[in-house]
Order: sequence, then C-alpha cells, then structure tokens
Amino acid sequence: MTGLEDGIADLFIIGGGINGCGIARDAAGRGLSVVLAERGDLAQATSSASTKLFHGGLRYLEFFEFRLVRESLEERETLLVAMPHISWPMRFVLPWHPGMRFDSDTPTSRLLARLMPWMKGRRPAWLIRLGLFLYDRLGGRRILPATRTLDLADDPAGRPLKPEFRKAWEYSDCWVEDSRLVVLNARDAEARGARIMTATRVVGAERAGDHWQVTVEGPEGRQTHRARALVNAAGPWVAEVIGSVARINSPKRVRLVRGSHIVTRRLYEHDRCYFFQGGDGRIIFAIPYEGTFTLIGTTDQDHHGDPAEARCTEAERDYLLAFASRYFARPVTAEDVVWSYSGVRPLYDDGASSATQATRDYVLSLDGDGAPLLNVFGGKITTYRRLAESALARLAPFFPAATGDWTARVPLPGGDFPHDGVAALVDRLLRDYPFLAPGHARRLIRAYGTEAFALLGAAGAMADLGRDFGATLTEAEVRWLMTREYARHAEDVVWRRTKLGLKMSAEEIAALEAWMATAG
Ligand SMILES: Cc1cc2nc3c(=O)[nH]c(=O)nc-3n(C[C@H](O)[C@H](O)[C@H](O)COP(=O)(O)OP(=O)(O)OC[C@H]3O[C@@H](n4cnc5c(N)ncnc54)[C@H](O)[C@@H]3O)c2cc1C
Repeated sequence: MTGLEDGIADLFIIGGGINGCGIARDAAGRGLSVVLAERGDLAQATSSASTKLFHGGLRYLEFFEFRLVRESLEERETLLVAMPHISWPMRFVLPWHPGMRFDSDTPTSRLLARLMPWMKGRRPAWLIRLGLFLYDRLGGRRILPATRTLDLADDPAGRPLKPEFRKAWEYSDCWVEDSRLVVLNARDAEARGARIMTATRVVGAERAGDHWQVTVEGPEGRQTHRARALVNAAGPWVAEVIGSVARINSPKRVRLVRGSHIVTRRLYEHDRCYFFQGGDGRIIFAIPYEGTFTLIGTTDQDHHGDPAEARCTEAERDYLLAFASRYFARPVTAEDVVWSYSGVRPLYDDGASSATQATRDYVLSLDGDGAPLLNVFGGKITTYRRLAESALARLAPFFPAATGDWTARVPLPGGDFPHDGVAALVDRLLRDYPFLAPGHARRLIRAYGTEAFALLGAAGAMADLGRDFGATLTEAEVRWLMTREYARHAEDVVWRRTKLGLKMSAEEIAALEAWMATAG
C-alpha cells in the first residue's frame, strides 16, 4: 500500500460531517493513508442537525424511492449492532382518522387520484397499511418488531392525543446520536492511521501531475498537503468546493433544503414517538428527547444564503407548533419551546418542483480528468456506511492494493457489546463505580459504551472526577472529550459530544469555556 512515505497521502477528504468521517474510517481500514480536514468542529453542520433517525423513510415510499428505502431499512440493524450505545430501536405511532385530507402531490397520490378519483386528497387506511407492510418486509428484520395496529381509545399512546384519533399503527425505526456517530467514525479512522484535522479550512486544491495539491488554513497556519485522490464531502458546501476551491466547471448542482426542529418540555409520558401527517401532505415527528424533552420536526424549505446561517425562523416554529397542535389534545405553544436548531440538506438537484420532493438519495460523481476527485451529493445519516462503501468502490481502480468492504462487521469505539446489553452495562458500571447516580451512569453508557470504564479510570468517588461543571459533566469527561474526541470549545462539548446544553445554565457553559481555554 502506498503510504505517506513519499509525502503523498492516498486520500484527502474535505469535510468532517458523517460522510467525510465515514469515508475516512472505511478507507483507513482498507489500508489507505487518509487525511481529513474539517474547517470547524466535527459534525458542526448538517450532521448534528438531523432528526437523528436510522430510518428507512416511510414517506419516501410515496415517491417510489424503493432503492433508497430498501438500502436504509437493511442498514438499520447493521448499524444497531455496530453501535448499541448510541443507537436504539424506537416505536413510531402513526395516528389516523377517516376524515383526514391531504394536499399531496406525490407520485402515489397522483396514481391514486387517476385510478380512484374519489380518493383524491386522501391517504386511505389500506394505503398506509400497504406502505407499512412493504416497510416491514423490504429490508429484512431480525431485531426490530413488526407493525401492529393500535386502538387509541385503549392504548396509552392515545392519551395525549385529541379524542378523534381512535386508530393508529405502530412501526419500528431507530434512534441515533448523530454528532457522536460522526466523532466515533473519526476516532476509529484515526485509530486506523488517518489524520483528522479540525479547525482547518481547505482554501485551495489543484491538480499537480498525478496528484492533488491541497492548501489548508488551520491552527498551524497555511499548509500544503499532497494526495492521490480528493474527496469532496463538504455537504452543503459541495458545490462551493467544486467551483471556488478546486475551480472546476461542473453541471452538477446541489439543492439546499433547510430543516428546522423545536425542542419543547416533555409533552407526554410514554417512550414512543409520533408520526404526524399534515394537511399539506408533509409529515413531522414528535420524539421523546433527552429524558425531559420532546423533539418536533422537521420543516422543508429551500434555503438561500450561507448554510452556516441556517436558523429556525419564527414562521417555521409556528408551523411546527400548529402542526403538532392538530394532534395533541393540549395545544403546543411557543412557551413550551426551550431550544431549536436548523440544518441544511445538501440534496442532489434532480430538478424536482418542491423541496419536499427532491430526492434524498445520494449521488457520487467522479471527476477522473487527471488525479481523481469524488464529489458527494446528498445522502442520509442512515446510509453513511453504504455511501462510504460506494465511494471506495468508485475509487478502487486507483488503489488496486486496497482491501475489501469491512465496516458492516466491526463495532464503533465503545460499541463492542450486545445490541440489547445497555441495561447490563449500566449495572456493571454502577457496580464498579457505586458513587455514580443511576441517571449519570446511564448517560455515560449511552454516550461512551464500554469506554465509559476507561473514562472513569481509577476514580473511587465523585471528587476523583475533578471539577463539576453542572448537569453531571465532570472534568474527567471534558478531558476525555478534549484529548480523544477533538473537542476544543464548550459548544463542542455541550451541543455535539453531549446535549447537556439543554440542562446547563449559560453561566455554567461560560465557565466551561473559560476552563477549556486554559486546560493543558
Ligand atoms: C433537518 C434534517 C433532518 C435530517 N434527518 C435525518 C434523519 O433523521 N436520518 C437520516 O438518516 N438523515 C437525516 N438527514 C440527512 C443527514 O443529516 C445528512 O444527509 C448528512 O448529515 C449530511 O452529511 P455530510 O457529511 O454530507 O454534510 P455535513 O454534515 O454538512 O458535513 C460537511 C462538512 O464539511 C465542512 N466543510 C465545508 N467546506 C469546507 C472546507 N472548505 N474545508 C473544510 N471543511 C469544510 C463543513 O464545516 C461541514 O462540517 C437530515 C437532514 C436535515 C437537514
């Protein structure tokens, strides 16, 4: 394998979101030498702003996106097994009543209106059941339970809803801690030899003979790297990198679609999620979040301007509040909202008429006019591993000594325990560290899995974990995040490596920032 002996890496990857880090891990495990540059923090853009689901995408069935749905469904259980700490099964409740009407323009609704004109504007029960039948079977299931029908008059899932919702279906998908997924991929890539550079922006890239010369600006100033192939995984900036960084003319376009979420105080007691259908043909989720909150999203709006500036607008917040209030018996109001976030989907521009209809599938475009450039468009968190395999397959002709696919079988750091073993691991942690409160132990296992033991080390009392920053965040954990997980600022710690920002005060976060600035 060609290493860095001649000063030329095999791959230079632009972007430390899920796609860049997933490709870095996969490539490093095949024996390629890899350098990745992220201009800010890992997962600082779209990959920390998702709905956080490993899902097939039930609604994509209405768009006949069977390839994408099948691949995503197949992936769910592979991923669950590889990262049982940061992902887990969830049940989704889809309420329905016969009076529901939809202003929908999907291929399915058009077909239905043509074949059965009296069904125009409706999503009949049999159609939803058919969709769920396919959803259960398209991708194979061994771990996740099948769909069942609920009588909402009897089931606790009916209690928070308006009484007109008497019927629902309950189906399976999975949760994932999106930004931790990115960091764990980066860590595993590094453990396999990759070099991960954060706070490092790629400002120029040009072909020089049989390789790329890449200029970066980072903590060590301006530097040049050389690589045999360049991977552009810049997410919403993919087109900017092609045009302004690599200075290549390309007909490929990206469509930027903003999606916002709101987080409210917990709206109901049970642990299931809701899948709500709106009169506008769209859907939103309401999901139990971080113990005492509910996550509601998302919107779908074409985004103009800098993707880094994406924010949940008041109009989007009100849209989500009104949407959820059509279902919940108690209206959800602006006073319930404690936080919001927004991200921009870097979708491949397939010319679809609306943001909702643009394909969620990924497109890899290889520019082989000299040293190769692989551009990544679109994709989902759910398909990141498959996307990485496809990327390496496209690059394989340039690296004949690279080994084959491997990531389906290998856990991420901390994920080397059974997929249903979280409770047992929490018990073990509490046995070894009896001074931890149960909620604290559970949080550590959910974030770090088996590595929680290494993080706590020889501690015999809370005081041994050093300074307490609030909300169970200790100095030992922050040091771990700074030395092993590339955290540089409080924001990285409280909004991406953890979500403790929801529970810490502004003063506590400022004190953490001040401490991190001086911690050696
Ligand atoms: C609202 C919303 C909800 C979603 N929900 C889900 C879901 O539930 N499930 C699912 O599977 N998918 C979901 N997705 C899709 C998923 O989040 C994205 O497809 C995925 O995160 C894209 O990852 P990425 O690595 O391509 O982009 P990003 O995460 O945006 O990463 C690109 C990175 O490149 C960096 N960069 C850009 N230019 C440069 C440069 N010049 N130098 C160095 N670095 C640079 C950026 O800083 C950024 O960190 C959702 C998306 C959105 C917006």
